[in-house]
Amino acid sequence: MGRLRARLTGEGVEGILITRRENIFYLSGFSGSAAVLFVDGTQQVLLVDGRYATQAKAECSGFTVVEVKRPWPDGVAALLERSSLKRVGFEAAHVTYEGWTKLAAALGDTVLVPLVGVVEALRMVKEQGEIERIKEAVRLVDEAFGRCLPALRPGVRERDWALELELTLRRAGAARAAFEFIVASGWRASLPHGVASEKAVAPGELVVIDCGAVTGGYHSDFTRTVAVGTVSHRQQEIYRAVLAAQEAAIAAIRPGVTAEEIDRVARSVLATYGYADYFNHSTGHGLGLAVHEEPRLAQGVETVLQPGMVVTVEPGVYLPGEGGVRIEDVVVVTPTGAEVLTTTPKRELVVTGRC
Ligand code: ZN
Ligand code: ZN
Repeated sequence: MGRLRARLTGEGVEGILITRRENIFYLSGFSGSAAVLFVDGTQQVLLVDGRYATQAKAECSGFTVVEVKRPWPDGVAALLERSSLKRVGFEAAHVTYEGWTKLAAALGDTVLVPLVGVVEALRMVKEQGEIERIKEAVRLVDEAFGRCLPALRPGVRERDWALELELTLRRAGAARAAFEFIVASGWRASLPHGVASEKAVAPGELVVIDCGAVTGGYHSDFTRTVAVGTVSHRQQEIYRAVLAAQEAAIAAIRPGVTAEEIDRVARSVLATYGYADYFNHSTGHGLGLAVHEEPRLAQGVETVLQPGMVVTVEPGVYLPGEGGVRIEDVVVVTPTGAEVLTTTPKRELVVTGRC
């Protein structure tokens, strides 16, 4: 909270209204789905409706919990009316136009200042306790994937296998799936976000599997590509190119390097294999209370990597109509380099359900 307060002056505001769920949880520990957190130089107030008053008091020691029928805009307007604040920030990326209009109409002289990424910037560098929870989310996925992979055989529908994977994860202790799982086989593997469909996997196909777990509020994100039944020379070659790009990007991660540099390393390796034009997304992203956070490992992102940042590294090659390969690990930036948390082997293209 001290770090947030220190930033307010620089942002030109005396207080801030926080409405993004993950940011409220990060600062206060409140795990409910709706609240407004107000922070200024002296107070930290959580405005909740009747559903969450008891929960907020139990979860947020050190916070004033105010129960109000409509936290936004009524609770906020009443709170600001009692204060003498002139400029108060709000999370511009998470307040709807309708929400802003209602609050602006209910306010007196206070000026609402749109702010972007204030709490997200604090969240970028993880504390040890946060890294431990991410490690647990990664471990759950490694274990569930290993257990389910043998069942991915010719004839199995993508969505049936995805459901089995999700059940296995949740039985092992995951609170929920981190997102809708991608199980993309054959030509669908060329869709970077091909969520599991009715399609059955067939011999000779590549399957891109992208999944993740949530535990203690923190996410994991994982991708492996496997071959079903048999594997061709060309599939092996594409896999080797992606693996080389992924390993080079991981090797380049250390404090002081920019996020875009890691992206450039992955891209340049794929270019040497002739696949530069077939890698159409960024190399990775931050991971934590949200599955996609800062810093993105992408062109134009000049954020300097620091110890405690947690990112994914996930280059891919997608050949329209033919298939694709992606390999994704979770990596922590350490004082001297990088620690890869994902433990599922990736050295060879695994062939499952051999014919
Ligand atoms: Zn992923
Ligand atoms: Zn990812």
